[in-house]
Amino acid sequence: MRKLRVLFFCAAFLLAQIASAASIRLLVDATDAPHRVLHAHLVIPVRPGPVTLWYPKWIPGEHGPTGPLIQVAGLKITANGAPLSWSRDLRDMYAFHVDVPQGATELAVDLDFLDPVAGGQFTAGGSMTPQLALISWNTVLLYPAAASSEDLTYEATLRLPAGWQYATALTTVSASGGEIHFAPLTLTHLIDSPVLAAVHLRKVDIPSASPFPHHIDIAADSDAATATPDDFAAKYGRLVEEERAAFGAEHFRHYDWLLTLSNSVAHFGLEHHESSDDRTDEDTLGEQATRYGLAELLAHEYTHSWNGKYRRPAGLAVPNYDVPMTGELLWVYEGLTEFLGYLMPARAGLYPIDYYRESVAEIASTYTHRPGRAWRPLVDTAIDAQDLYGAPSAWSSYRRSTDFYDEGLLLWLDVDMTIRKLTADKRSLDDFLRHFYGGSDGDPVVKPYTFDDVVRALNDVAPNDWAAFLNARLQSTSSAPTGGLESSGWKLAYDDLPNAALEAHEKRNKNIDATVTLGLVVHDDGRIEDVIPGGPAAKAALVPGAMILAVNGRRFTPELFRASIKESNKRTSPIQVIDESEDFVTVTSIDYHGGARYPHLVRIEGTPDRMAQMVASRVKRETGRAPRVGQAFQPVVWDRLSSLSSSGREPRQAGKPAPHRGPYTPPSRITSR
Ligand SMILES: [Zn+2]
Repeated sequence: MRKLRVLFFCAAFLLAQIASAASIRLLVDATDAPHRVLHAHLVIPVRPGPVTLWYPKWIPGEHGPTGPLIQVAGLKITANGAPLSWSRDLRDMYAFHVDVPQGATELAVDLDFLDPVAGGQFTAGGSMTPQLALISWNTVLLYPAAASSEDLTYEATLRLPAGWQYATALTTVSASGGEIHFAPLTLTHLIDSPVLAAVHLRKVDIPSASPFPHHIDIAADSDAATATPDDFAAKYGRLVEEERAAFGAEHFRHYDWLLTLSNSVAHFGLEHHESSDDRTDEDTLGEQATRYGLAELLAHEYTHSWNGKYRRPAGLAVPNYDVPMTGELLWVYEGLTEFLGYLMPARAGLYPIDYYRESVAEIASTYTHRPGRAWRPLVDTAIDAQDLYGAPSAWSSYRRSTDFYDEGLLLWLDVDMTIRKLTADKRSLDDFLRHFYGGSDGDPVVKPYTFDDVVRALNDVAPNDWAAFLNARLQSTSSAPTGGLESSGWKLAYDDLPNAALEAHEKRNKNIDATVTLGLVVHDDGRIEDVIPGGPAAKAALVPGAMILAVNGRRFTPELFRASIKESNKRTSPIQVIDESEDFVTVTSIDYHGGARYPHLVRIEGTPDRMAQMVASRVKRETGRAPRVGQAFQPVVWDRLSSLSSSGREPRQAGKPAPHRGPYTPPSRITSR
């Protein structure tokens, strides 16, 4: 109660500082982007008296206090042409205090954003090259303290270097002479809509049955890197249709993938409601294996438009950028997105089903060899996400990492297979998707949810004690949740043939993942990224951070290292390694003789192949049947399924109302429209 009362007082006080509903004018001059600097100029309506201006701190999609404040320089605040002194808050570095003199109605604010040279993730990562720039609005603005970012309207203008083109989900009012004026919109919507600008920028129209336009806007450091295979647009059109068929509706007016292909920017995907910021290597489109990886990335970020943007955990749906987020439901936000991000490209034919199975095998194998889960339950990795995103790869197996992504995939596979078993394969997770994320087409809005909302929606699809089901897996410190894999009709097996998905990931990560053999992960340059406690490398006293100089008497190369593992079952002597750690050089013997071992999935004979059913296209275009778009969801009527249930629960009678679902928190709009 005390907390609420304080918050009310603060909100009322802070609102009084904003002069009116007048728009804040923002000009971002990106003509120095090739030199890695953005210049911002804001005009903020104010009233005389003390004012607090915030730099965005808690960034949606980044799930933490990651606004790149350290990259801000040149802050100047003036009123009526006279400079004002400002002071930083003593406790929160993102807040700046200034006294507005009598007679002043506006503050003029100038600041520069310096592109991070190395390190940094998401909007705090490098985003500019001489050929392109990704402009995230949260990096180049301040906002006056307000109860909600929905209460603030911005009129944004962007100035680009001569000859550069741009792409964004924003609405352009006018563009001439390299200056683009965007339609006025809320601060929420502005920060949710970055701009990709480049010398080489190609807009690919994605044809589909969706009523909403889709584009993949490709910017690269060379024109050649934007070239796509002939079937590129058509295949992504199938992805659009598969997602629409699965969810039943789309909650945007158009969608743009802003795809940056450059070796000189940070690599990641960051979701937005009507677009996504997707960044990867310059040569990604040139090879099939890297195009498979791109399909995972683009499907993951696109899925977030439903799972993360439209429906968002209440703890992450904060009213503005200075209110802390909580991540305890990230196993839904990211875990289910990871599950669908791998599945949807397979349904769409962006990669074959056997590649999908290889991906699941790699993930299941990794989490079967994750000793950190013995002390740290999955839910704790979600709660602690804001630490774990920035954690190094060293010790990640024991400490754990953002495991709510991939272990979340296994969890949701388990949910899907359990729904199928409970309903004699009449229902699946797709029914939950339509129920929880469907509704009707329209503008981007946010509908927050709680754990109980998820449980209720699952119960509507297939009655079960879902709270106990989920909690058992979220709180477990025993084995990984691989029950869904076995229920899908497949199980993990190992042989000496490389796993195609693992191979692609090793190429992208430039490392050798020897988790299941030597119990370590080594970068292509010989640096040990992680050691698995209890494995042969750990027993040989190798440690993360050490540099392997030589293997079996020869200078380290990735090929030689792989060969030493492959041939270990033909040798009686251990693998000899010379490694260097700081000033210490050590000769180490790894007692391993198991040869190469790679995870795959093999059929469990005599069981239904539910994985094949799960991966089958929902669009069914080959049969001419329409996808189940917009199909009304009907909660389970117990007597239809009671013969299938072995739980002994009392069945509900046909025609009785569905279990009561509590009202959602009233949706807050994310668009000014
Ligand atoms: Zn994600």
